[in-house]
Amino acid sequence: MPTDTALDTDTLLTWFAEHGRDLPWRRPDCTPWGVLVSEIMLQQTPVARVVPLWEEWLDRWPRPSALAAASQGEVLRAWGKLGYPRRALRLHAAAAAIARDHDDVVPADVDTLLALPGIGAYTARAVAAFAYGRRAPVVDTNVRRVVARAVHGAGDAGRPSTTRDMADVEALLPAEESRAARLSAALMELGALVCTARGPRCADCPVYDSCAWQRAGRPAYEGPAKPVQRYGGTDRHVRGLLLDVLRGTSDPVPKERLDVVWSRAGQRDRCLDSLLVDGLVEQTADGRFALPGEHR
Ligand code: SF4
Repeated sequence: MPTDTALDTDTLLTWFAEHGRDLPWRRPDCTPWGVLVSEIMLQQTPVARVVPLWEEWLDRWPRPSALAAASQGEVLRAWGKLGYPRRALRLHAAAAAIARDHDDVVPADVDTLLALPGIGAYTARAVAAFAYGRRAPVVDTNVRRVVARAVHGAGDAGRPSTTRDMADVEALLPAEESRAARLSAALMELGALVCTARGPRCADCPVYDSCAWQRAGRPAYEGPAKPVQRYGGTDRHVRGLLLDVLRGTSDPVPKERLDVVWSRAGQRDRCLDSLLVDGLVEQTADGRFALPGEHR
């Protein structure tokens, strides 16, 4: 897709060098495995909550084979309350495939990464760019919002479309691989720190002068309404309460122990069923419940 305004790569890279956060997975000594773990953890969880857990995981499981050797239950327990625990099982499955098929080294090539279990379009490109300095369009919510505003002059990004969004970002990336990789990180950081969803800090923005949204007079967002995220009382909340019980014990528990966490039986049973279907909980032969892989 043609762009209305080209973002100045040098300006953004200079800004990123000066203002980008010093995060452990951005340090030169971080392994590609550390980058992969960070990318899975950062999906839907804020940086501040990820950092301590990431450090714990990398100390405990410094290589894919180390994580692969742990049981699913151990991995889910270590995931703690980071949320969306299916991510832990996806990471575990990817670690096993990397250990088995790739000599315990995270692949660098997007297509090879995409062939790993549980690795999607975003994660594959993020690992190629951030761990290996490859030129790959890395598109998350922050990047979509920056491009929508700074390039297309819209108040926010519309509905996601992987193909269109990636083509949009690809058009902004310089040809040289390592500059393109740094620009991907810079765009993401700009969206996280300055061009935020509510209340962008335009006065502090390095691309203020060329921003299409500014030039267009800051038009209001006219796309589809953004869903409001809530947690209390949702199935996600109830699933979390059920998993908390199982994480807190090494023995399988009878159903009565799970029944006390939530009074609405219909919702509670639906959530327990979905945990069983997702492989996050297993039922033992005598009908009790446990984290997977620990009591077969
Ligand atoms: S000037 Fe404002 S809207 Fe434009 S990219 Fe910067 S922060 Fe975002």
